[in-house]
Amino acid sequence: MTATDGTVSQTIDRLIDAEQERFAETHPRSAEAWARGRKHFLYGGPSHWMRRWAGGFPIYVEEARGCHVRDIDGNDFIDFCLGDTGGMCGHAPEAVTRAAVRQLERGTTHMMPTEDSLWVGEELTRRFGLPYWTLTTSATDANRGAIRIARMITGRDKVLVFSGCYHGGVEEAHVELRDGQMQMRNMIHPNGVDHARVSKVVEFNDVNALEEALAAEDVACVLMEPLMTNFGMIPVAGGFHDAVHEATRRTGTLLIIDETHTLSCGPGGYTRLHGLEPDILVAGKAIAGGIPAGVFGVSEETAARLWKEVPHVNPRQRQSAHFGIGGTLAGNALTIATMRAVLEGVLTPKNYEKMIGRADQLAGAARAVIAQHGLPWHVTQIGARMEIMFSPRPPLNGAEVIATRRGNLETLLHAFYMNEGILVTPFHTMFLMCPATEDADVDKHSAVFGRFTKAVIEAGV
Ligand code: PMP
Repeated sequence: MTATDGTVSQTIDRLIDAEQERFAETHPRSAEAWARGRKHFLYGGPSHWMRRWAGGFPIYVEEARGCHVRDIDGNDFIDFCLGDTGGMCGHAPEAVTRAAVRQLERGTTHMMPTEDSLWVGEELTRRFGLPYWTLTTSATDANRGAIRIARMITGRDKVLVFSGCYHGGVEEAHVELRDGQMQMRNMIHPNGVDHARVSKVVEFNDVNALEEALAAEDVACVLMEPLMTNFGMIPVAGGFHDAVHEATRRTGTLLIIDETHTLSCGPGGYTRLHGLEPDILVAGKAIAGGIPAGVFGVSEETAARLWKEVPHVNPRQRQSAHFGIGGTLAGNALTIATMRAVLEGVLTPKNYEKMIGRADQLAGAARAVIAQHGLPWHVTQIGARMEIMFSPRPPLNGAEVIATRRGNLETLLHAFYMNEGILVTPFHTMFLMCPATEDADVDKHSAVFGRFTKAVIEAGV
């Protein structure tokens, strides 16, 4: 670090302190609630994911509607975080609320299907193209099920992921490349798993590394997002999907595409938009309107191979029907009812058009601010999702994110946003539109981002 870098970083730290003080003053009830929460929750809130907010502590939510959240201090926020995608339908969407209440009155979980499930199965196939589906209670669990199937039918143990990925609590994916070596991501504890035996990791968009890693034919599956959204957005390079497809076919490796976040690209995710042909497709989070849910769909060939390993059971023969996938609550009547409401009435082509239009506006305005000041920053947008990064061009892979990330400036921006009534994903500067995001919400962001930009230029950071 040079002396100038050191001074800049001290200035940023001072500015963060000032923003956090401002936040504490204007959010006293949330501050007090957070202090109380710390007495009874391991990490302050009911989930440790709730603690990363740059204001210093999370707001406690009184009510959330559409893309707005009101906290217990009476402050209003425009929510571009949307529960890190779980809220992509918008908060309290009418169709989901009605379906949920109706189902709550008729029973939520009985380990038997409801007729709504028939509609859901048909619609999942129509949207994503894969013929056979299974529900889980989270995207993590859907990924786990998909990996288990890939191992069962290939007889191989390893899972290949891309450095910087996130696929939930999936152990095999908790690795990244540091200085060319596979290491645990974020210093996550290996949890007794021998990652050298079960994981391989290469850089995104690196065809040679991928081909080399698959050449030994010991990889059960490649697990990937169609473009990376969890380490700052990393766009996919032209031809990379063709190369992944070809290399997985050639080496007998299954391809699992995780659309949990990229569902924001359109009604059938990135897969349908770009004609990808995964063996297994995973989705989750928003797919049941915020009711915990995940899904995975498998191709005809994958299903046929699986049925050889695990045939349909004949109830007369008292066979074990359990093969380590999903849980008792998976596919319950409440999830099915809300998933139907989402697919039928919320994540519709018309609403996607609106959401993508808003993201176009938000991205355009942010680019204009950056260009006006000649800053070495950039904006990436795909469908209803966009990201601002403090580097001159989109990263090619995880290594470039590590090399260019300005984490403290991101924290400053996020703390500034919180004080100005804007929420973005706390892990990086990603925005998501929901059907209820309006022009005024986008315009407010443009003004706030303009003010932030001026403030940091004046401060010399
Ligand atoms: N896959 C992807 C691509 C994700 O981004 C996430 C969560 N951020 C997950 C899976 C896990 O989802 P959940 O926490 O709902 O299990």
